[in-house]
Amino acid sequence: MKAVVYKGPNSVKVEDVPDAKIERPTDVLVRITATNICGSDLHMYEGRTDFEVGRTFGHENMGEVIEIGNGVDAVKIGDRVVLPFNISCGFCKNCERGFTNYCMTTQPDPVGAGAAYGFAGMGPYPGGQAQMLRVPYGDNNCLRLGEDAIEKQNDYVMLSDIFPTGYHATEMAGVIPGDTVVIYGAGPVGLMAALSATIKGASKVWVVDRRPDRLALAEQIGAIAVDDSKTDPVQFVLDQTKGIGADRGCECVGYQAHDPQGTEDPAMTLNRLIQSVRITGGIGVVGVFLPADPGGFDENAKQGKLAIDYGLQWLKGQSMGSGQCPVKKYNRQLRDLIAVGKAKPSWIVSHEIPLSKAVDAYKNFGDRTKGWTKVILKPE
Ligand code: NAD
Ligand code: ZN
Repeated sequence: MKAVVYKGPNSVKVEDVPDAKIERPTDVLVRITATNICGSDLHMYEGRTDFEVGRTFGHENMGEVIEIGNGVDAVKIGDRVVLPFNISCGFCKNCERGFTNYCMTTQPDPVGAGAAYGFAGMGPYPGGQAQMLRVPYGDNNCLRLGEDAIEKQNDYVMLSDIFPTGYHATEMAGVIPGDTVVIYGAGPVGLMAALSATIKGASKVWVVDRRPDRLALAEQIGAIAVDDSKTDPVQFVLDQTKGIGADRGCECVGYQAHDPQGTEDPAMTLNRLIQSVRITGGIGVVGVFLPADPGGFDENAKQGKLAIDYGLQWLKGQSMGSGQCPVKKYNRQLRDLIAVGKAKPSWIVSHEIPLSKAVDAYKNFGDRTKGWTKVILKPE
């Protein structure tokens, strides 16, 4: 089968790899129909992680079930399914409590960040930027879709990662109806956090970034765009809240997404959140702070040791949640919002590209001046 394979820094190829196949009775085999390129793929693509040469990318996948192991019950051949990027068993101590992002069966490393398809540091699993994907524990890891699966494919595929991840940021921040919310990062994840805050009934949402194309997308759903290359975002939020600060804040940048040259303090967004969220407010951090090299800011930053103003956070009594998103916790409800037309996450899709053109897609998506916000690859 064809797959998008990592060849070394800034290089991918679409080449033949061994067909994915059923290996265990609990596996499901999926023919991929849509697979996104994610901002996280760029960090691996650009060579800032230990992603192995020869591995297939792709953790944002959906498709059609074409074969099932004889231990699979719920999923049937022909089902259209979207796959959480987390690969989880459903029965370990963490999964039982809903923390499928820290499954102990699929990723036994006790300090690991869970398991995922095609992801550095998250187990040996190949990615889904390919014609087929083996889904371990298929009953647990396939979310089945309805009749509109094909028609709304560009919406449903966002359930694999970024929509639940944006939602998770707002959950960890504790967003409730009427809250004001400041979001750092207008990438796909930040935009999904803005959408989620809006769905939850936030009274005001600010989105901070410096890319005009992305800020314009935030405005399309009613958020207030704050360009931090022109405006001090902390002062802006304080000015609009009588000096009190936003009720909630979300970090959707992560330290690798800061300027690739590494001249900007990677703790900047966290410190700005602490400054612009009110006393006793909440902050949700989904931006990744390990394991990629944040562009060489300094040696400490490479290990995730950042100069965070913990004293101010303590003084303000703020809460902060962090980590990978447990996609299964939210994907069913978010699917049903898409189904009835109350959420349309595909508004951020800038490009749909055949899988065979993935080399160009990576090049253009990686060129951050080009306005490629979200790219969906479609295997022919
Ligand atoms: P992205 O790189 O496309 O977007 C990041 C955005 O942040 C860019 O638009 C960039 O211009 C902006 N930015 C850079 N520095 C900034 C600053 N100082 N202030 C405000 N904005 C700034 O990434 P993405 O795909 O949207 O993902 C965002 C983060 O979320 C990444 O770290 C990604 O790895 C992470 N992520 C986490 C999870 C999870 O489960 N926790 C899942 C998916 C992605
Ligand atoms: Zn992703």
